[in-house]
Amino acid sequence: MPRPKIYVARTVNPNVLARLGQAGEARAWGGPDRCPLEVLEKEIAEVDAVLGTYRWTAALMDKAPRLRLIALTSVGFDMADIDGATQRGILVTNTPDVLTETVADLTFALMLAASRRICEMDRWLRAGQWKDAAISPMAWDIHHATLGIIGLGRIGSAVARRALAFQMKVLYYDTTRKREIEQQHGYRYVDQETLLREADVVSVHVPLSPETKGLMGAGQLGLMKRTAFLINTSRGPVVDERALIRALQEGRIAGAGLDVFEREPVDLANPLVKMENVVLLPHVGSATEVTRTAMLDLAINNVLAVLQGKPPLTPVNPEVLARWKR
Ligand code: NAP
Repeated sequence: MPRPKIYVARTVNPNVLARLGQAGEARAWGGPDRCPLEVLEKEIAEVDAVLGTYRWTAALMDKAPRLRLIALTSVGFDMADIDGATQRGILVTNTPDVLTETVADLTFALMLAASRRICEMDRWLRAGQWKDAAISPMAWDIHHATLGIIGLGRIGSAVARRALAFQMKVLYYDTTRKREIEQQHGYRYVDQETLLREADVVSVHVPLSPETKGLMGAGQLGLMKRTAFLINTSRGPVVDERALIRALQEGRIAGAGLDVFEREPVDLANPLVKMENVVLLPHVGSATEVTRTAMLDLAINNVLAVLQGKPPLTPVNPEVLARWKR
């Protein structure tokens, strides 16, 4: 029987190809930038498995008639057409858990940076504006403030745990009430409106889906306190960016910390880029050496498991597996 073929849609270390070689013939994109679509379309024509986070549309899957597995290197799977994959009998896997604490750290960093004006003060000092040791612009406290978490899943919970160490009061809203965690840590479950009205910091941790697109629009931002901050490390389109820009320009909220945007990379003409009270990061929530390695490892292990006839470790659409058995 011919060995399965695997394509890695990103640049990787030769060790990765050697490991994938245990289960099949592996090739990888070797360029400095993202693998171009026309290259990917050709490379996947005869493969059984692909590894890498890419915009996996149904049209792209149709270029790979033998494809059985898409191993994403991210926990979010909004960039893959999951229904389209399921219809085609293609299993999709993602990388949950291994990045949770790292993303929670970054969320907290954004929260502190925005409220304590850390990046702004750094720019202020470098611009030579520190002329009088006694005078500096004032910021907002995070300790003892109220944190509102929208989506108390893996990352939302890890952010809430950090908040307890800062003696923050934690409110949360989620489609599913998490009574056990709530009682264990003293969080308060509230509706979205109460959360937005009461929180000093609103942090969003929902996956991007048709239901969550634009979850934070003008109406929701309008409910927030004028002194409150919005932190988004989930996905850009969860927040209506035009509404956010307007709320910031009109001083209806105090500031924001953003790792994700409606369009990435962010265009420098985006008004957010000029705003002093906004901290912007280039989608680096999971970008530490250890975590990115763990994410790639998990994706590799999913490929090895599936191609060796074992259950995948972290399937997104496990219903496909039942169809394979028929
Ligand atoms: P998760 O464990 O699935 O948590 C998501 C939570 O949101 C779940 O509790 C879910 O509730 C809840 N939820 C879903 N729809 C909701 C809605 N409409 N309103 C309120 N709550 C809702 O996911 P995670 O591992 O924490 O990751 C969260 C997201 O973070 C990912 O999907 C990804 O987009 C993003 N992320 C970003 C980075 C980055 O680099 N910035 C890195 C990693 C992840 P149920 O339990 O009812 O489903």
